[in-house]
Amino acid sequence: MSSVTVKQSNLMNTYNRFPISLVKGKGSYVWNEKGEKFLDYTSGIATCNLGHVPDSVQQKLKEQVDTLWHCSNLYEIPSQHSLAAALTKNSCLDQAFFANSGAEANEAAIKIAKKYAKDSGHPERTEIVTFKSSFHGRTTATLAATGQKKIHDGFTPLTPGFRYLPFNDFEALQQINNEKTTAVLLELVQGEGGVNPADKQWVNELADLCKDKDILLMIDEIQTGIGRTGTLFAYQQYGVEPDVITLAKGLGSGFPIGAMLAKEHVAKSFQPGSHGSTFGGNPLAMTAGLATLEEILEENLLPDVYKKAVWFWNEMETVKQNFNCIKEVRGTGFLIGVELYDEAALVITRFREKGILVLAAGAKVLRILPPLTTSQEELEIFTDTFKQIAAEIDATSTN
Ligand SMILES: *Cc1c(COP(=O)(O)O)cnc(C)c1O
Repeated sequence: MSSVTVKQSNLMNTYNRFPISLVKGKGSYVWNEKGEKFLDYTSGIATCNLGHVPDSVQQKLKEQVDTLWHCSNLYEIPSQHSLAAALTKNSCLDQAFFANSGAEANEAAIKIAKKYAKDSGHPERTEIVTFKSSFHGRTTATLAATGQKKIHDGFTPLTPGFRYLPFNDFEALQQINNEKTTAVLLELVQGEGGVNPADKQWVNELADLCKDKDILLMIDEIQTGIGRTGTLFAYQQYGVEPDVITLAKGLGSGFPIGAMLAKEHVAKSFQPGSHGSTFGGNPLAMTAGLATLEEILEENLLPDVYKKAVWFWNEMETVKQNFNCIKEVRGTGFLIGVELYDEAALVITRFREKGILVLAAGAKVLRILPPLTTSQEELEIFTDTFKQIAAEIDATSTN
C-alpha cells in the first residue's frame, strides 16, 4: 500500500493541504487510504452538491465514457444545446457559453462585458466594478477582478480595467457609474471572502442603477449556484434579473465545467472568432452537467434543502447562544459561515479528529458546505459534534 504522506517534491506547493489523502467518496462521505470515513461538509468546495459519485450522474458518465469523449467545438455537440436549454429555461438568461472552470467562466463574462460596450457604441466603457473581499478566480484577469490584496500580492502589474468598491455599502453605489463602467461583477454571498451575504435592498438598488445606465449586472454564481443557497441560483432570492451569470463548481458534480449565461442582447456580442475553448462544452462535461441539473431540479430536492437548512440554521443559532466561542452565523441555505473568536484552523482540526471535514473562509470563519442531499441524521451528527467542540473550546478558554 502507498503511504499516507503524499510526496510533495514533484508537486508545486500551491496548497496547504490537510494531512489526509482521500481515495473514495459516496454520498456525504469520503474515505482515506486507511479506510477511515469522514462526513464531508466541504462538498469538494461547494462542488459535489449531490454528494460524492451520485448514482444517476455516475451512470450517465459511464455511458458517455463508452461513446464519445471529445470532438472539439468545430462540430455540433447535441448535449451542449440540451444543457444550454435546461439552464436558460430555469433562469432569466437566454444563451450559454461553456468553459472548464469558474475562472474561465468569469473570463468569458469579462470579455463579453468589454465587447458589449463597444457593440453598443460606448468604446470608452472599459471598466468593470467589483467589490472588496470578493473572489473571482486565479487567472491574470480574474485575480485582478478579485477585491483582495492577498490574491494580488506578487502578481503586479495587475490586468487593468477593474475598480473595487466596498460591499453592501449604499453610499458607494454613487461611484458605480463614472462614464467608463461597462459592468458590475459580484457574488451574492461572498464565498472565499468570509461568507458575506449581500444585503437585499442594496442589491436591488445596485440592479436599478445598472439598468438605468445600461451597465451590465453580472453575478458570479460559481459558488452560490446549482442549489447551494436553496434555490437553483442565488439571484432568484433577490428579486433581480442579472444580464450575465457565471457557473462552475456545482454544475458538474465534480466533473470540470464552467458556464457563462447571458441575456440575448448581451450574448449577441459573441460571434464566431470572439471567444472559444478547446475543451469547453465537451461531451463528458455536458453529460455531467445535464445529469446533475436533472437531479437538482427533481421536484423535492430544493424544497427539501430549504427545510433542512431552516432546521440547521435554528440549531446553529442555539449553538451560538449556548457557547461563547461563536461570534456570528451567516450565509444562505447550505452556504454557511460561522465566525469564531478563535482561529478557524484549530476548529477544523478538531472536527477532522472527530471524523468531519469543514473548511475555512478567511482566518476566523468556518465554512460549512453540506451536500444538498445530506440527511437529517447527518446534520444532527454535525450539530452534536459542533456542540461538543464548542464546549471543549469554552472550557479551555481563558476569558
Ligand atoms: C471557486 C470560485 C471561482 C473560481 O473557480 P475555479 O473553478 O477555481 O476557477 C470564482 N468565483 C467564485 C465565487 C468561486 O467561488
